Amino acid sequence: MSVQNTYDIVIIGSGLGGLACGSILSQRGYKVCILEQHFQIGGCLQDFKRNGQLFDTGMHYIGSYEDGQILNTLFRYFNIYDKIEVSKLDENGFDVLQAGGNEFAIPQGVDAFRDKLIKQFPEEEKAIITYFDKILEIYNSVDIVNLRNILNFDFEAKKGEGENVYDFVASLTDNLDLRNILCYSNSLYAGKKESASLFIHAIINVFYLQSAWTLVKGGGQIAGAFKDVIEANGGEVIINARVTRLVCQNDKIEEIQIEGCEPIKGKQVISNIEPLTTMQMVEGANIRKVYLKRLQQQEQTISCYSLYCVLNERSVKYANANFYYYKNNEVWGLDDYDESIWPQGYMLYMKESSIHKGFAESITLLSPMDYNEMEPWFDTGIEKRGNDYKQMKLEKGERLLDLLEDKYPDIRLNIKATYASTPLTFRDYTGVRGGAMYGVKTDSRNPVASQVLPRTRVKNLFLTGQNINMHGILGVSVSAIITCGEILGINSIIDELRTFKQEAE
Ligand SMILES: Cc1cc2nc3c(=O)[nH]c(=O)nc-3n(C[C@H](O)[C@H](O)[C@H](O)COP(=O)(O)OP(=O)(O)OC[C@H]3O[C@@H](n4cnc5c(N)ncnc54)[C@H](O)[C@@H]3O)c2cc1C
Repeated sequence: MSVQNTYDIVIIGSGLGGLACGSILSQRGYKVCILEQHFQIGGCLQDFKRNGQLFDTGMHYIGSYEDGQILNTLFRYFNIYDKIEVSKLDENGFDVLQAGGNEFAIPQGVDAFRDKLIKQFPEEEKAIITYFDKILEIYNSVDIVNLRNILNFDFEAKKGEGENVYDFVASLTDNLDLRNILCYSNSLYAGKKESASLFIHAIINVFYLQSAWTLVKGGGQIAGAFKDVIEANGGEVIINARVTRLVCQNDKIEEIQIEGCEPIKGKQVISNIEPLTTMQMVEGANIRKVYLKRLQQQEQTISCYSLYCVLNERSVKYANANFYYYKNNEVWGLDDYDESIWPQGYMLYMKESSIHKGFAESITLLSPMDYNEMEPWFDTGIEKRGNDYKQMKLEKGERLLDLLEDKYPDIRLNIKATYASTPLTFRDYTGVRGGAMYGVKTDSRNPVASQVLPRTRVKNLFLTGQNINMHGILGVSVSAIITCGEILGINSIIDELRTFKQEAE
């Protein structure tokens, strides 16, 4: 790269948010350049292979992918729909939860889930109907997700964001089993009992209930498909390019500095990395102290420990479902633990063998883990953390396997090899502070505190990604629409999305 390099749009970070913006804008004729610090693109979309098996690090499953549903429409608009291989999870139970020994399979379809619950808890019919009416009301109130034109984003109050999930469900029913079933998905947004927002809960639940799919070829296929689209439209995706400084003049970025490379220029700059980290890189602009302070005060969601297990051939039957295990009869508080009793539960994702259909080839287990547990190794880098770190990873893995034996008693005999990652792995592979799973924490008691607008006081600097709208495949895809809306006009994008939806139906 040389200093003359000038692009219409420079995007910092190749996570889902950056890649989606790159796709939208390159298809509209803008010359796009994406700069990625890591040697692999995708951020939380990254996958990796061990022993010939593919493992996802972040993105495991997606929702609303049937023709006409929202993610299907967005992926068609991004021009990646045809390139992604997905497989539908079990219609009768795409997520299965076990809390304190009781198992319940969540069927696909809002009506199917509601009807199954009413059948199992007939005396709670009123509570169940009220719950579903409420989450649907919230989901249907979101203009972009429902492809309605919108007037303005500026800290618009979102229905339900100031309401707490736990309190809402507790106000409906005293039945602990029912409460657990309605709230098991808090693991998908790192929800805490005292602060989980009903808005996020409703969006995520309805999104997956509409249809739930596993990514047959991992999350990396999404990143790869985006890269192909961007390059086919004349754009560039550059790896090993860590942005270190954004040099401004007259509150406009004039130069983007990259570690070990010549700086480049962009007429517009979109940052897909955390807002705070982005603003700390800005030099020579008038950033208000109160804005920086607000970003500094935003708390991160918890990080996690992941155990990746390669299975012996034909040893474990494939379950076409994700499994959520809670040791006690309580689905809240996996992240609120004393180290001596970790883990209190896990999320389990399986991959089916392509050779031996009906059998699993691998299992990934995730359990929330506090970044502060990693303090002895804070200053270490990938593969350079020492033997005590490796020992800690092994011990944690054994504890997770102890829990897994409750579901699969012979599991240790069926495992060929295990690999593990910690909050430090997430920190170093995605650049996210504290290896936070889902970015900044939202709080139903103070929803405004976590809100960040896509535009900044630096005239040509925009923000995108999980901290701008919401985490996850839907939240981040929508963040890209919102960010590009600042450049292209949001309603022109929504008009186009409606056309893609109509064509698919
Ligand atoms: C364990 C786990 C499981 C998950 N499971 C699911 C799931 O099943 N379904 C779902 O919908 N969501 C899931 N999510 C959430 C989802 O993966 C994320 O919300 C989403 O992928 C985040 O995308 P992003 O673009 O905001 O950021 P990121 O993916 O964090 O991307 C940011 C990118 O910026 C790069 N970068 C950072 N600093 C710099 C710099 N200075 N210069 C250049 N580049 C830089 C990073 O390397 C990274 O590539 C999961 C997340 C985790 C952690």
